Amino acid sequence: MEIKIKNVSKYYYSGGKTIKALDNVSLSIPANQIFTLLGPSGCGKTTLLRCIVGLEAPDTGEIEIGGEMVLSTEKDIFVPTENRGLGMVFQTYAIWPHMNVFNNVAYPLQTRKMPKDEIRRKVDKTLRFVQLEGFEDRPATKLSGGQQQRVALARALVAEPKVILFDEPLSNLDAKLREETREELRAFLTDLQITAVYVTHDRIEALALSTIVAVMNKGRIIEAGAPRDIYFNASHRFVADFIGRTNLIEATVTSQEGSVTTVDCAIGSVTCRKQTRMTPGDQVTLCLRPEFIRLKRGDATQNQNVFNGQIQSLVFIGEAYE
Ligand code: ADP
Ligand code: MG
Repeated sequence: MEIKIKNVSKYYYSGGKTIKALDNVSLSIPANQIFTLLGPSGCGKTTLLRCIVGLEAPDTGEIEIGGEMVLSTEKDIFVPTENRGLGMVFQTYAIWPHMNVFNNVAYPLQTRKMPKDEIRRKVDKTLRFVQLEGFEDRPATKLSGGQQQRVALARALVAEPKVILFDEPLSNLDAKLREETREELRAFLTDLQITAVYVTHDRIEALALSTIVAVMNKGRIIEAGAPRDIYFNASHRFVADFIGRTNLIEATVTSQEGSVTTVDCAIGSVTCRKQTRMTPGDQVTLCLRPEFIRLKRGDATQNQNVFNGQIQSLVFIGEAYE
């Protein structure tokens, strides 16, 4: 299902102040993609997700899910959450500790008063899918963090939603488990052929998991694209900086021939690759990622992009020296 968001704004009023949580957001989320909203804490990710789900009423705008208008402030349309056909997984596991695995997963179907044998069939199928078959009778509290997260996923999937939404679902797991669960989740979502909207402030999670990343800041979508495009070819300084470690250096364009652009900056003349049309004299920012810097002993020769420098600190971090 495709999701279309048009001119959505959301204000909060607190302590006599107005907070613009979403600033006229327009966005198209194609069907069957793993679409990530990435941005710093407080930039409006959760608010946007809650607007899509219907847990928050925007002040302006329209939202369409699979061609159906679920929100329009102008036309006074607001489809309630339970009628939007969505599944959601939150940051906190939000599984019920007093229930076993089966009942945790069956809950959304039980509230719909579905026949018992149909519930059993659907729960079995979903538990098989998240590789938790045989765990039906296990109390939810007797599961590892990763297994609890899979129960939460199973519960979000059991009613066969058109769209599944995640709000930082891995942030409570320790680093190693987070990586494993990320890989599992990626495999699950790819198999499912479902539209997934995933919120995170973790750039590696966004790059590793998504087919499309949208970078947000201060209530706005700054730029969206495939992970590689966002990483290597960001159009915005904020995005280049947020998506990976980088050196951002003020520079002036001196020439451009085809896709080869030469700029002048504090470290000298640098030759770079950039498709965008530029003219000599343009003020630009040079984005130099540390993983592309190679060190060699001795003096710089006349070669392109070779500079003299002095090592100021050297830190061993396992797979590399920084
Ligand atoms: P994120 O999920 O990206 O961290 P949020 O969407 O939670 O950001 O918040 C966006 C902005 O809206 C923040 O400035 C936050 O403080 C504010 N905000 C969120 N929810 C409320 C609320 N219920 N009342 C007042 N301000 C809120
Ligand atoms: Mg949030």
